Amino acid sequence: MPSLADLQVSSLGPCAYPSPLGSYVAGRETNEYFVSEDDRVLYDDTISLLRRRGEPLETCPSFEPGGPRPQIFHDPATTHVGVVTCGGLCPGLNDVIRAVTLELYTHYGVTQVTGFRNGYAGFDPAHGFEPVDLTPALVGSINERGGTILGTSRGAQDPVVIVDRLVALGIDALIVIGGDGSMHGAHRIVEEITRRGLPIGVVGIPKTIDNDIPHIGQSFGFATAFGEASKAIAAAHVEAESAYNGVGLVKVMGRHAGFIACYAALANHDADFVLIPEVPFSLHGENGLVRSLERRVRERGSAVIVLAEGAGQEHTLATGRSDASGNSRLGDIATIVREAIEKDFHDRGEELTLKFLDPGYGIRAVPADPSDSVYCARLAQVAVHAAMAGRTDMVVGRRRHRFVHVPIPLVIERRHSVNPEGDLWLSVLESTSQPLDMR
Ligand code: ATP
Ligand code: MG
Repeated sequence: MPSLADLQVSSLGPCAYPSPLGSYVAGRETNEYFVSEDDRVLYDDTISLLRRRGEPLETCPSFEPGGPRPQIFHDPATTHVGVVTCGGLCPGLNDVIRAVTLELYTHYGVTQVTGFRNGYAGFDPAHGFEPVDLTPALVGSINERGGTILGTSRGAQDPVVIVDRLVALGIDALIVIGGDGSMHGAHRIVEEITRRGLPIGVVGIPKTIDNDIPHIGQSFGFATAFGEASKAIAAAHVEAESAYNGVGLVKVMGRHAGFIACYAALANHDADFVLIPEVPFSLHGENGLVRSLERRVRERGSAVIVLAEGAGQEHTLATGRSDASGNSRLGDIATIVREAIEKDFHDRGEELTLKFLDPGYGIRAVPADPSDSVYCARLAQVAVHAAMAGRTDMVVGRRRHRFVHVPIPLVIERRHSVNPEGDLWLSVLESTSQPLDMR
């Protein structure tokens, strides 16, 4: 559990400029739109959690709230903001780029907004990726398309080169839209900026389709992603039900965290088994997958298995390979599960109709659904408010319906994952009736 000190967000300095947003709230009796600089959002939200700490209330961990401040750090007339998207695709990236640009132009009067191309590689002049001017006209309806108009990439980049480029272009604040690796990279950039004593802020908008970044509540694009995955599960269910001894096997994203598998399965209650990285399972034990599936197909005539790509890695041979960013490549659990099921039915002389569905990239590439679009726009606005107020080395998040600022070191120290003892996993077990322990 983080302490109050862990939750302090860094700032470039005192805020000397009145926020242009003041014109919207001028004349109102109270300026409730503005966040009070001495307000905080509690980390714990139940009396029992607070009691467990045994600390006086003022030292209880709390987050800095997100939102507009009456006084800001950067002078909007001269501010230049950079935007970059890094890592894998996720629904909503274009919504975020659009909302950052529009908030800066429309409400802060900032007209220098530069988009860096193809992730962190776009900062290195050696790659020759020319930055683009992000304008309201350019970002007009980009939210209708999936992907990112800026492009993205993986692979290490030197923070010294990145900061050289920020300085050369006169960037005052950089908004990084990316996953855990990107936030590691953002922190390295902050370290280099600090080493040089520069007043340049770095604010992250966490992007993780797997929802595996801690402390930020739900990540943008996650709801769209599990909605898409649930369509594949529904299709697998129809296929399985319509065949004799039909089995649907659906592979969904989730390298280290099974949130997509859990939510997609709960969205339509068609899954008989949900297998996630956090909960080990055996293939051939009495309550293992093969025997349990055999029983379920005998009882109901068909079954659907939802398999997160990172589940059951202990059954695969370590690939020993990694991608350009150093993330290890997963073993192919889907093939192992599929072959084990086919062999079991064959050995028992039973007919089997197994349909394997891998919605894979189709999940990442879709545009955000309306609720994610709203969320993207609001996260982007909160990130702009934070950047203009001189915050740095932080990401925006939304916990319990409150937008908050979270220090980057806190979000990169561990991964968020499904708690096998928690209420989400219990809901999945209730929905599937799979054995509690499948080892
Ligand atoms: P996702 O995994 O959700 O697709 P990600 O941001 O984790 O997104 P990565 O490819 O791991 O994707 O990282 C994106 C960029 O962040 C890389 O191109 C690299 O420049 C930088 N990066 C990744 N890991 C680190 C690290 N440990 N330290 C510094 N920079 C990193
Ligand atoms: Mg990552």
